[in-house]
Amino acid sequence: MILHCATTNAGKLGEFGHAAGELGGDVFRIEALPGVKDIPVPEETGATFEENAVLKALYYSGFSEELVFADDSGLEVDALGGEPGVQSARYSGEGATTEKNNRLLLERLEGAEDRRARFVCVIALARKGEVVSTFRGTVEGEILEEMRGGNGFGYDPLFYCPAFGCTFAEATTEMKLHVSHRGEAVRRMLDFLRR
Ligand code: IMP
Repeated sequence: MILHCATTNAGKLGEFGHAAGELGGDVFRIEALPGVKDIPVPEETGATFEENAVLKALYYSGFSEELVFADDSGLEVDALGGEPGVQSARYSGEGATTEKNNRLLLERLEGAEDRRARFVCVIALARKGEVVSTFRGTVEGEILEEMRGGNGFGYDPLFYCPAFGCTFAEATTEMKLHVSHRGEAVRRMLDFLRR
């Protein structure tokens, strides 16, 4: 079964493809939604990860006859009242880049003792304009005071994972998927589809 993933984020797509290879056996293949780069991006107006994931999945499912899924994900930092949350990709405002976002996060957490944080991923699965279901995954960690590692994407170099004793950017994609928010959400989606 082919599942079309509606994302232009290469980091996410790489992880989804990997997850299907590892968890989906011969049954599931995850591929980018054909032509996704040429489809205008919908505005993410939702207040929650669920709302944004559903909004994106519904929108993109209009461009395919197959099952389409979209995810909305981000980082919640306790000392910042859950920020950057649904604004994770756009945290540093207009012209946001990964580097600027990470720098801003470090600035906002300067001197903070409580550095607990979690990544959240919600996947919404849809077919031709109807939501089939949603799947949530989370992983707990801490924000370091400096970046470590060159793998992954986004906030990975700042996200220390106690289970590994290193950041997500120091872990391999395989390691990260075993414990990550995205790995958990994909596992839940594939279990649902198997049933
Ligand atoms: P969106 O889901 O496309 O709205 O954006 C999610 C944003 O959250 C990404 O651009 C990253 O900044 C951050 N993010 C989500 N998942 C991860 C992850 O696994 N590692 C690092 N950053 C992540």
